[in-house]
Amino acid sequence: MMEMEWDDPLYRSTVALFEHTAECMNLDPNIRRRLRHPDRAVIVTFPIRMDDGEVGIFHGYRVQHNNTRGPFKGGIRYAPDVSLGETTALAMLMTVKCALMGIPFGGAKGGVRVDPVKLSRSELQRLTRRFTAEIINDIGPDFDIPAPDMGTNEQVMSWLLDTYSQHKGRVVPAVVTGKPIAVGGSLLRRQATGRGVVYMVESAAAKLNLELDQSATVAIQGFGNVGGEAAQRLYEKGAKVVAVGDIRGAIHSKAGLDIPALQQHFLKTGSVVGFPGSDEIAGGELLELPVDVLIPAAAAGVINDKNVTKLRCRILAEGANGPVTAAADGVLRENEDIFVIPDVMANAGGVTVSYFEWVQSLQSFFWSADEIDERLRQLMSKAFHEIFELAQREKVDMRTAAMMQGMGRVSEAMKLRGIFP
Ligand code: NAD
Repeated sequence: MMEMEWDDPLYRSTVALFEHTAECMNLDPNIRRRLRHPDRAVIVTFPIRMDDGEVGIFHGYRVQHNNTRGPFKGGIRYAPDVSLGETTALAMLMTVKCALMGIPFGGAKGGVRVDPVKLSRSELQRLTRRFTAEIINDIGPDFDIPAPDMGTNEQVMSWLLDTYSQHKGRVVPAVVTGKPIAVGGSLLRRQATGRGVVYMVESAAAKLNLELDQSATVAIQGFGNVGGEAAQRLYEKGAKVVAVGDIRGAIHSKAGLDIPALQQHFLKTGSVVGFPGSDEIAGGELLELPVDVLIPAAAAGVINDKNVTKLRCRILAEGANGPVTAAADGVLRENEDIFVIPDVMANAGGVTVSYFEWVQSLQSFFWSADEIDERLRQLMSKAFHEIFELAQREKVDMRTAAMMQGMGRVSEAMKLRGIFP
């Protein structure tokens, strides 16, 4: 297929990252050529009846990158800029993420080009049900298992589950993860990504002889699912969270923010801004604070060629997907003062508990929160140590090592399975 069909900045930078990794690990050239492309890409265009009686036409994608190690797995995104290229890049990174975590899944991603904020609840439901119907033969509990991503949530997953189950004539909870607990979701799925980030930070801090107590300072961009949970966990562990930001602005307190009180303020006002006892700072300023741990857990591309040389953190834990641009990453590779925990490993707690949810759904047997938390901690810590040792051994940065670990496992599986026929 023509490369230009995937033309997109994220696709280009992801292919460049795959190429760089392939070079560093001397990857088999056939596998290298194969991994640049997805196995399958489904593009659908479909109508839905809008509330005002008009017909809206929408474009949706499901890209399945690789299923050598297990069923395809990846979120569904609703955003106005969803494209085939971006979806493909995200699917490629899911393949690597699942492999480096040792989870028996391949990589996929999906999306609909729509601004979900502009839809009513019933329009959102019709859009979700029709999109699910369009891709119904391309997903399944043992083939491709969607999950929430930007612009989608537990409710959307519930409609997806219901539509799939209605078509099949039986309930199929394992077709989707990130669903509400009432319809078979897992305990701790909602908290998993933020917790996973913190487990990775703990492992990195131990390597740097950094105690995560009151002497350790933390700044977090984003106070949603990932950033909010990471802030809460780090606060509970005794670290000093000195700055938090969201889309409306950022706040700072030298003495440390009272995170449970900030959660209450956020619930009341919808933002961290205006929290009593804190000073307001610019969102960009938060990223440049001298802190021990910086967690970008919001948008992509926030660390770029303009601000990368101004970072003053010791650990950069990428909670968000793609917070560091390719250009900034080149600069970080040369900076030995900053320990980077790249997104493919830092935010892998989400897909890890999605895996636990899938296993529980298949078995109709549910685990306790303690059991899930302990298994999550073990898998995150194991992945960190494997990648850290690989980075030391191969003398590469952590992002390259994480990519090498993931691509190496996929390559091994591809070689063992061989080429059909
Ligand atoms: P969310 O919508 O719950 O929260 C996002 C937060 O970021 C909000 O506080 C929002 O105000 C803030 N924000 C958005 N744009 C911003 C900007 N330009 N500047 C400053 N703040 C901004 O989203 P989330 O689920 O927490 O996801 C955050 C990131 O983590 C995304 O990149 C997502 O792809 C990634 N991620 C999430 C999960 C998960 O399980 N939720 C898993 C893996 C990766």
